[in-house]
Amino acid sequence: MATIRLTLPDGSVREVPAGTTARQVAQSIGAGLARAAVAARVDGQVRDLDRPLTADAPFAILTEKDPASLDVLRHSAAHILATAVRELFPTAAIGFGPPIEDGFYYDFGVERPFTPEDLTAIEAKMAEVAAKDYPFVREEVDRAEANRRFRDDPLKLERIADLGDDEVISVYTDGPFVDLCRGPHMTGTGRLKHFKLLSAAGAYWRGDSRRQMLQRIYGTAWWKKEDLEAYLHRIEEAKKRDHRKLGKELDLFLFHPFAPGAAFWTERGTSLYNTLNAFMRELQRDGYQEIRTPLLYNKGLWEISGHWGKYRENMFLVHNNETGEQDMSLKPMNCPSHHLLYGSAKHSYKALPIRYSTYDVLHRNEVSGALSGLTRVRQFAQDDCHIYLMESQIPAEVKTLTRFILDYYTTFGLKATLKFATRPEQRIGSDEMWDRAEGALRAALEATGLPYELKEGDGAFYGPKIDFDVADSIGRTWQLGTIQLDYAAPERFDLTYVGEDNSEHRPVVIHRAVNGSFERFIAILIEHFAGAFPLWLAPEQVRVLPIADGQADAAGQVVAQLRNAGIRATLDASNNTLNYRIREGEMAKVPYMAVVGQREADAGTVAIRVRGAGNKQEILPLADFQARLLADIGARALKP
Ligand SMILES: [Zn+2]
Ligand SMILES: [Zn+2]
Repeated sequence: MATIRLTLPDGSVREVPAGTTARQVAQSIGAGLARAAVAARVDGQVRDLDRPLTADAPFAILTEKDPASLDVLRHSAAHILATAVRELFPTAAIGFGPPIEDGFYYDFGVERPFTPEDLTAIEAKMAEVAAKDYPFVREEVDRAEANRRFRDDPLKLERIADLGDDEVISVYTDGPFVDLCRGPHMTGTGRLKHFKLLSAAGAYWRGDSRRQMLQRIYGTAWWKKEDLEAYLHRIEEAKKRDHRKLGKELDLFLFHPFAPGAAFWTERGTSLYNTLNAFMRELQRDGYQEIRTPLLYNKGLWEISGHWGKYRENMFLVHNNETGEQDMSLKPMNCPSHHLLYGSAKHSYKALPIRYSTYDVLHRNEVSGALSGLTRVRQFAQDDCHIYLMESQIPAEVKTLTRFILDYYTTFGLKATLKFATRPEQRIGSDEMWDRAEGALRAALEATGLPYELKEGDGAFYGPKIDFDVADSIGRTWQLGTIQLDYAAPERFDLTYVGEDNSEHRPVVIHRAVNGSFERFIAILIEHFAGAFPLWLAPEQVRVLPIADGQADAAGQVVAQLRNAGIRATLDASNNTLNYRIREGEMAKVPYMAVVGQREADAGTVAIRVRGAGNKQEILPLADFQARLLADIGARALKP
């Protein structure tokens, strides 16, 4: 019998007869490993433990400790969900059931939407299926057999018809349920112990709005009870922090059906927006040129930039009937207009890098169904920057930009991780250009000494990029900043600089954003801080409360003095009781309240209450309070 060679993660090689399963290899290594094994990684691919091994390959047993094993658990949980649904709804058609971040879903063709009671019943049935510990049995079948097995399910038949002639058709059975699937799965349903169904919602078959509406059930599954509980706590917390809810409660912004996907910013929301914008301006005071360019352009520009061909359905087109000008568009991004400005003058190599920054309004035509609060909008502004530089300047620039971005996030208590994304399938430019761009960006990234994750094929269509993901206070991650290297735009726009040799050369362009869009960043900040902004960001920094009418004037003078010092102070001299007004101030998450009674009015002091410190009060001379506020604001302190 033929022998194959498996290279284990420690570099050692095991020789086994061809046809041995991964489970048998695990057993030969140790009974403990065999018990802990979930699946195997064979030549980079995750596989069922019971599949026979047929060729030499790098080989590893995956246990619950391996992050990739969570996908196996969650996808298997999706099968168990489908098993349970079929038990309770025997005619349900079966769509797709993939693992997703933190969980899984499965789409079903059923006669009516699932109710919360259905979900409870399905969850209980899943526990039964898990308790029976049915093995997941893989079989390879031919097309005729596959069609026969799924003859009652039009969705499965459609998928079988889509499979190429050379594709292996595999089916998996767990107890009463059989599914067309590529795998991999856990060995048996009994490995599913800690799971929960979360919600159900309509979803089009294959995401196509012209196809039938299916019912999607979302769930989550974890190896450990603590992990499941922590996750459920996190989504509860996320619901409480939902920026759409807090935006209303804290009077920051609203949306109106007459302007879908475009926010109305109230006075308080505008204050938040402007404070962030002022901070970015301050950081970019040196070395950046702030510019403003038009919002509306002829299609000629978009033809040069490539947007007209590749991006038009995302743009708002405008027809001007009066002048006969047609086919104009609102800008969906700033880059092309910055390139026009750069190209309108001669630049010496001595002037590079040139850094254009802008906060102009952008429009993108998101379909109305995708709009969601401030995170998916049609109108927004970025802290956008385009840097024109020589190739030799890339390492130093990337290093500076990376530091800049990381320091910015630290101000908000957001921890960032770096991702390096390389050439995607759909791209412009030659392989040689991509080799150079990736080489330059990778070298610059490595020179920073920071760890990063490689995202193969995830780059922009015009160049490789570094993405910055941040983790918020409840452990969710958001993709925010980006540094993108672009060798293509300078060609398309014929951009040049005059080099030391007095002849013209092509610059390289870096696209850089830190917040991404202000709108989305504010949504993230609202949820990250649960609306309790640090003093420097808070739209209302101090609320001054006279105890009674007799101190209203004195309290008014406190407000006037603080406002004079640039502090956003307000007066609440309404007729409500002091306790009621304090409670209102707490609900509004104002960082400081300053109470003025007769004693304070006479002595020129205030009794301050710090947000989150309960009923503690501290009496301070007004001048000292003001100095403390200004120091905290100046330091952009996260906590008072
Ligand atoms: Zn499967
Ligand atoms: Zn750009």
